[in-house]
Formats: sequence, structure tokens, C-alpha cells
Amino acid sequence: MNHRFLSIVGLASAMALSSGCSTNKAVVDTKPQKTVATKPAAPVDTTPVWTAKKYSFNPSRTKENDLLHTTLRISFDWQKQYLHGLAEITAKPYFYPQNTLVLDAKGMEIHSVHLMKGYDGTPLKFDYNGKKLNINLGKSYTRDEKYTLEIDYTAKPNELPTGGSDAITDDKGLYFINPLGDDPEKPRQIWTQGETEASSAWFPTIDSPNERMTQEIYITVDPKYKTLSNGVFMYSRQNADGTKTDYWKQELPHAPYLAMLAIGDFAVVKDKWRDREVNYYVEPAYKGTAKKIFGNTPEMMEFFSKKLGVLYPWPKYAQVVVRDFVSGAMENTSASTFMEDLQLNERELLDKNWDGIIAHELFHQWFGDYVTTESWANLPLNESFANYSEYLWAEHKYGADEAAYLQLDELGQYLDEATEKREPLIRYYYKDREDMFDSHSYAKGGRVLHMLRNLVGDDAWWASLNLYLTRNKFSDVEVAELRMAFEDVTGQDLMWFFDQWFMQPGHPELKVTQSYANGQLQLHVEQVQDTAYAPVYRLPLKVAVWSGGKKQVDPIIVDKADQAFSINVATQPELVLFDSDQQLLGVVAHQKSQAELIYQFNNAGQFGAKMEALAMLEDQVDNPQVLTMYQKALQDKYWRVRSIAINALSKLKEGQIAAIEPAIAKMATQDEKGAVRSDAILALAGWDGKKYQPLFAKAMQDSSYQAAAAAILAYSGTGATDTMERLAKYEREKNGEIKLALATIYAVQSGPEKYDWFIKQLKTAKGGELYYLLQSYGAYLASNSQTNTTEAINLLADLAMNHQLYYVRAAAYQALMVMSEKPEVQQLMEQIKQKEKDERLLEMYGK
Ligand SMILES: [Zn+2]
Repeated sequence: MNHRFLSIVGLASAMALSSGCSTNKAVVDTKPQKTVATKPAAPVDTTPVWTAKKYSFNPSRTKENDLLHTTLRISFDWQKQYLHGLAEITAKPYFYPQNTLVLDAKGMEIHSVHLMKGYDGTPLKFDYNGKKLNINLGKSYTRDEKYTLEIDYTAKPNELPTGGSDAITDDKGLYFINPLGDDPEKPRQIWTQGETEASSAWFPTIDSPNERMTQEIYITVDPKYKTLSNGVFMYSRQNADGTKTDYWKQELPHAPYLAMLAIGDFAVVKDKWRDREVNYYVEPAYKGTAKKIFGNTPEMMEFFSKKLGVLYPWPKYAQVVVRDFVSGAMENTSASTFMEDLQLNERELLDKNWDGIIAHELFHQWFGDYVTTESWANLPLNESFANYSEYLWAEHKYGADEAAYLQLDELGQYLDEATEKREPLIRYYYKDREDMFDSHSYAKGGRVLHMLRNLVGDDAWWASLNLYLTRNKFSDVEVAELRMAFEDVTGQDLMWFFDQWFMQPGHPELKVTQSYANGQLQLHVEQVQDTAYAPVYRLPLKVAVWSGGKKQVDPIIVDKADQAFSINVATQPELVLFDSDQQLLGVVAHQKSQAELIYQFNNAGQFGAKMEALAMLEDQVDNPQVLTMYQKALQDKYWRVRSIAINALSKLKEGQIAAIEPAIAKMATQDEKGAVRSDAILALAGWDGKKYQPLFAKAMQDSSYQAAAAAILAYSGTGATDTMERLAKYEREKNGEIKLALATIYAVQSGPEKYDWFIKQLKTAKGGELYYLLQSYGAYLASNSQTNTTEAINLLADLAMNHQLYYVRAAAYQALMVMSEKPEVQQLMEQIKQKEKDERLLEMYGK
């Protein structure tokens, strides 16, 4: 599953373009934050807030019975949002004899349970408590005896209390979108989300990642809908009552949480990898661009298959985009589900691609689906690999700079989270399994795998993954099995690596100092992390030294808290680059002079090293040498370097910009990357915006939405008298960035005349976009009290009460708070609190 792309980052570009705008900045801060389970520290307690927490041990589920096969015959009641199902389950005792079978079945009505012999059924006694279905098998079975049960049930997912995590915002398993068809702006859809243990909200099963089953699903629906499920589409049958039944069969075993279905009016765009079908299911409006959005899939399948030496394991691969998805995406076996943000039109595709998330779900087809974590405590065996695949693909397809950027971004995500919590990657003592879906399991895990690859070398890395996959296919794993594969291939004992990175919390914090005398470079390396909470690390890494214009690279092993290294270097070095492969997950403090940093920018050649130089010298751009470095950065081949340079330079005052202003003005219209043009436009706007009015006016027509949206903000900031007239031309634009730019301006510069526009946007905006719109709308309501109408109140109350996404509900609630002096609003807010089941929001609202 993929949480990175959900909500915030889906609109990262929108945020980037409005980085100077307080409205959207506030957004980031007001987003419901993950609650950290920490008590206020007692005055004498110096325990850091991030210390690893030890809740009770979470073992993997004991296998009493073993699921073998599940056949489902299902149909739906859209009105009531029920699923009617007949489940035929074949199982057997795992090892010890059993006379009962306990199934997970959440929020169902169980009509009957029969033991089947051919077509004949004998009723069995059962107990059902709303969560567990306890079936008396009538006799004791041995591990050589299979049995088949038929369960007649109705699933009622909306009647379940819900939870969720940052990765998966909800856990009711089965979702009806626009079930009554009364929302003209939304398609009617049904889809499922199984991870972590929510498949048992739509069929009775042993809902645990260490179970596996083969599967057949017969889905009966109105013939106007397309269906999608795991495995192979076998046939469709027309029924006498006008419905159709689609039959999907998954012949290879997989874990129940990977079962899926999606039903809706999809356009199915066909593609191919080798002889296998690769299909993209999108809303009909995106039929034309589906191949551009997902079109790298076959190349990714080839790349991963070849590198792993294990062909893509499933008979087909489908990717479906659904509305109001509860995660970024989910790696259901052979049928991944994605959030609607992936649907882009031609022009939007100029600014971005979704390769990262597409690679992530695809790599899960091996790491997660083919070989599955045995317990949520071992979740990094799924997620760290999927996360790292984003790097692997970027490195292969887009080159070292883009890959290095991802690495830095991941490091930032982890270090950010580490200010709040530091847990071992493999975490048996979690409080809630959903807590595992964090930047440890994803970002840190991906970086740890990168270090492992760096340690053993490329050949050994791929050979070890091949052994791990081959040895553990169609079964479940814990981290020792990964270590053993690497040890068996490399012949090395890797306990130390796995222990410090997978089993212990924290990360190294290094202090590096250097001196030079008599042909010797002395490096002093201290591990300054608090070893009460983290190990003293063993860190094999490289040091690159430039002296007399020549580069030499020396390997060292840092394995003590305080250590000195002596390296032969002919002359006083121009630069020492510690961890020159830039692979370490940790923090390195290494003082460098301005001259050294400039040398680093010009010579190290890597994105990370350039970034460091730019960041460290950001406050010295008024220095001529530093300015020259920044001017060079404006011409860097990698667009992110150009972007970073513009953003740093934009902080210069008007009297200081003569040397760079013309270049940036040129970039505002001519840089090949829309994001860079956008940054340049905003930089100009921060200086003498008026001077660039004509440029901004023209840039509103930029082919890139991102640049056009920046131009809208920039032009509006010049105080031009025709601003509102010009902006009105974009009011029909469906692109999120343009809409958000208008909303940002209208929130502060317009009056009641934009009331209708805001209402229309709120009714039509989707997912993350709606979240941001609500922020601007709150500001608009605050400055336009005459627009605080019953219609507006009811619209917000409806969103706050009923929207599928918890953060949209929260944003709507916050917008309502603007009008909280009205008694009817207070009453509604009370009702919203009453109805809310999500713990995160209840905490925020104050129970
Ligand atoms: Zn994932």
C-alpha cells in the first residue's frame, strides 16, 4: 500500500507554487496530525519523547486451521449498501486435529453455515459475535482431512465502527461510492480495501497475512458496470433478471487481505507485457490519457522481472482508479487500486507523472503478494521493498539525480518522524498494527535496503533477492528469512547489519572533523547519538578526497563511538566528502568552509552534494563567489537544482538582484520545466511584480498548469485593476492547481459575488483538492459574513459528517467553526461530533 501520495503530496505541486502564500501554508499545519502516544513527561524524567514504546508483544497468528480455497457468489444492495454473499470455504487443520473453525467476519449477518458434501449441505452450529464466527465442525478433523463449508451472509460495512491509520484512512473493507446515484458529479462505484484486516468485512475468512488461499468470485451486477478482481476473467453470464454475473478466478494462492473487487463504469484500456494482459481501468473521461499515465507499466514489469530473475508472478496485471480511495494505492494481487489523483489530462501530464506509485504497487506483486510478511510486525518486508522500488525505477529510467532526490526526500521524511518516534523497523511491540504504516516502514526501510545493496554490491543484492523470492514464494516470511538469503548468497554473517538497522531503533548521528599535516589527512569521527536509545553503529563507508585537483576514494569502517582515521593525501585537500556514496541513513555534521562548499558544488557531481552546498550557503548569496555558484545552479541540467537555486535567490532584496534577475525572468518563460517556470514567476512576483505584469499576464496561458497557476497568483499580487476580470476567465477550469490559485485569491480579495463559485467548487472538488479548497473557503467565510448562508452551513455540515476522507471531514468542520457564533452551527457541530467514529478526529474535536 502506498501512503506517501495520499492527501498532501498529491497536491505537493500546488503547495509548492503557493509557497509564499499563507493560506496554503496554514493548510499543512492544520492537517490532522498523527497522535503520538506519549504522556507529558514528569519534571525529572529526561526520557526523549521519541523513545521506542513497548506495548504488549504481537505474535503472528497461530495457524489452527489452514484456508485452502474460497469461492464467493456475491451481489449488492446499493440502497442499503449491503453485500449479499454465499461463501464456500475449503480448509483443513494446519497440523493439530481441530473440531472448530474460527473465521473473521466483521459486521455481518450470518444466515446459515452448512458442511458440504458435493451439493448436499448439513447445517452446522455456530456462534457469532459480530466479529468472530465460531463454527462447530461436528467432529474432529486431522491435517489430512479437508472440509468445505458454505456460509450464507450479508455484509453491512457501514454499520461497523471504523478505525484506520495514516496510510489507510478507514477500515470498513467495502465501499459504495454515490450508492443512490444522487450526486451528479460522481460515478457510482463499489470497491474494496483489504489491508490490514478488512477483507473480513466483506467475506468470512481467516484475515491474517500468514494465511493463503486460492479464490473464485462470481459478481452479479447491472450489466452496465465493468468488474475487476484478482486473477483471470473467465466469463460473463447474462441472467434472466437482467443482471450479469462476472466470474474471476485466482488459481495461485494469496493472502486474504489481497483479495479485491472494483465495480463501476470504467473505460478499460488494454496494454501488454510479453504475452500477459496489462489493463488500465479509468473513468471514461481519461480513456485517452490512461496509456500515458500508466504506460510505463510493461517496461517496469520487464525491468523488475529481469533484475529479480523472477518473472512477474501473476497471469495478468490490472490497475484501477477509483473515487474517494482510502489510501494512495493498494497492491491487491494482480489488480492494484489507485486514488483518483492519478487521473490526469494531457496538459496535467506535462507537469507530472505517477511512476513512483505505479512502481511501488507493482513491486509489491513480488514483495507482499508473492512473498508476504507473516505478521504486521514484519511489515517492512512488504513496504520497504515497495518504497525502494521507487528509487530503483527512478535510477533506471530517469537517472542518478532523480533517484538521489528521492533518497534525500525519504531521509527527510524519516528524520521528521524521528523527532516524534524512533521504533525498530521490525516492531513486535506496537500498540496498533496500523501504526506500522509510517515513515519507518516506508522511508527508513527503503534507505536501509539501499545501504544493504551498497554493502553487498549490485550482483549480490539481486542474487540474494532472487534466492529470497524463490525460496519463500507463496509463503510468509519474517525478517530472519531475508537475512538468511543474503547470508547464503554472500557467505557473510550479516547479523550485525540486520540487528542495528532492522531490530534496533534510531539512527547514527556523526560528528566529523578533519586536519591535515605531513601528507596525512586525519579524520576524527564521533558517534554522538545517545547510546542509551540507539546502538553504536558499524558503518562501512567511503571518503572521497580532492587534492591538487585529483580525487581519491578510501573505504573506512566506523564502528566505535570515537575514532580516528589517517589517510595518505599528497597535498592539503580542497575537499573531503564523507560518505561519498551518499548512502548513509543518518545525520552527519561536518563543518566546511565556503570555499570547500563551492568546490563541492562544482566537483562532487552528485545531487546530494550539490544540495548540501546550496543549502549551507543559502544565507550568503550576497557574496560574489556564492552568487557565481548560484548562477551556475540556475543552469544545472537537473531541474530541481534550478528550482532550489531560484527559491534561494528569491530571498534577495531588490537592490541585490541585478546580476540574476534577467536570467530568472528568462527562465519564467523559457525553462523547459513547468515547475521551474512557476518558481521563477513567483520569484519575480516577490520583487517588483508590477514590472512583470505583462509577463504574468502571458504566463497565465502557459502550457503548464503549475506555471499558469503561479502566474495567476503573481498577477493578482500586482494590484492590477483588471485582476478579477482576468481571473474570471479561468473559473471553468477543472485543473486543481488553477482552482486552488483562484480560491487563494478570492478568499482574500473578493466579496459575495464569488459565493456561487465557491459553492460550485465545493460540490465538485475531489479528495485532496477539496481539503485545500476548504481552507480557502474558511478564510472567505471569515471575511464575508454575508455569505454565511444556510446553504453554505448545510454543505459544510454534510461534508463534515459524511465525506469518505477523514481529513476532508476535519477541514469542513474547521470551516464551520468560522461561523460558530451561530446557534444552529453550534448544534450541527455537536451532531458532527456525535456521528464521528474516527478516533483521530474525535481527539481533535475534544470528545
Ligand atoms: Zn506499499
